[in-house]
Amino acid sequence: MPGELILKPGKERSLLRRHPWVYDTAVARVTGQPAQGATVAVRAADGRWLAWAAYAPGATLRARCWSFVETDTIDAAWIGSRVRAAVARRLPLRAESDALRLVYGEADCLPGFIADRYGNQLVVQLQSSGAQAWREVLLDALVQASGCANVYERSDSATRQREGLAASSGVARGAEPAARIEVQEHGLRMAVDVRGGHKTGFYIDQRDNRRLVRALAGAAAERLGRAPTALNCFCYTGGFSLAAAAGGAQRVLSIDSSAEALVLAADNAARNGQTGVHEWRQADVFQALRQLRDGEERFDLIVLDPPKFAASHHHVERAARAYKDITLNALRLLAPGGDLLTFSCSGAIGVELFQKIVAGAVVDAGLDCQMLARLAAGADHPLLMTHPEGEYLKGLLLRRLA
Ligand code: SAH
Repeated sequence: MPGELILKPGKERSLLRRHPWVYDTAVARVTGQPAQGATVAVRAADGRWLAWAAYAPGATLRARCWSFVETDTIDAAWIGSRVRAAVARRLPLRAESDALRLVYGEADCLPGFIADRYGNQLVVQLQSSGAQAWREVLLDALVQASGCANVYERSDSATRQREGLAASSGVARGAEPAARIEVQEHGLRMAVDVRGGHKTGFYIDQRDNRRLVRALAGAAAERLGRAPTALNCFCYTGGFSLAAAAGGAQRVLSIDSSAEALVLAADNAARNGQTGVHEWRQADVFQALRQLRDGEERFDLIVLDPPKFAASHHHVERAARAYKDITLNALRLLAPGGDLLTFSCSGAIGVELFQKIVAGAVVDAGLDCQMLARLAAGADHPLLMTHPEGEYLKGLLLRRLA
């Protein structure tokens, strides 16, 4: 008999809508003393079966649902089939890049399990008790489905701590990864440090938007009758900078506070033979934007892709001020007819709120700007419609009217 989680009256509602999380406050009692990560039956107060879930004793997210189908058996075959299905869904993207997210946790109905592919190297994050309990099965299925033998684990996120799991990094299958793994995205080469880089090494989620930047640089060149200038703030390893240069920008100024990231970025530019275009500046973006304005600099294309300013809903107000500040100061540098892409990867800042913040910056800048597009993560980072918390990356493409 599996253990059971019996919910408080009324707390079954979200599960009936297939929302995959059970909060500790929703649980009335637990029967059968399930182990960490064990599969439990979640039941309503009246005993009605609701879901199979992985149990996380002590965690705020007390259980994460595997399945809302009572006849499912959560075993190695079931887990393996979910992994294979997730990997198969990414096959059409392989022509675009060999840096892809193959499994995206809740969105692929495997809560807490993240798997990215960089060439023939897999990088995984096990962020839930359920994923940890099924670790070997998940990794075996992933290796088999992807055909990649090497798996590196980067289970070093805060999410894991909240589940009471210790951080864990290192080789999980196969050989040590190379210090730099070269990937190709839309024909551009980029080196990824899977051991020490952000996330699993790279911002895979911005792939479509990097291609957009490249296209915008090309379109600006046609429109202006000269090569455009570009500014990439929070450039990290230079993804958007390379895209702007590949699109024909004559000068790309990239700013980041991390000297280490800038070294990688310059190396990435060299890998693509982009010489004489880039300037890599180590600075604080908040200050640098003001200095550029004092210098009366102008750019035809600007990208703002900062780190997560709001770690949780407690930080929304301060984060909103920061997003507004950089967007306003970037707008002041934007040439008439120029394009600004401004992003937020804070889950706590919703799409609507972000648009309001950006609109406020436009008003303060005293400009007419069109919104040409709403931007989001690529198709390998889908959003499960029953799990809106999964939405995090959002951006707007604005054009300054002359
Ligand atoms: N745009 C990047 C990802 C950005 S990650 C990409 O497409 O790959 C956020 C980056 O912002 C990190 O590289 C970090 O070093 C940098 N950063 C954080 N705070 C900063 C600040 N105040 N000024 C400049 N860079 C900052």
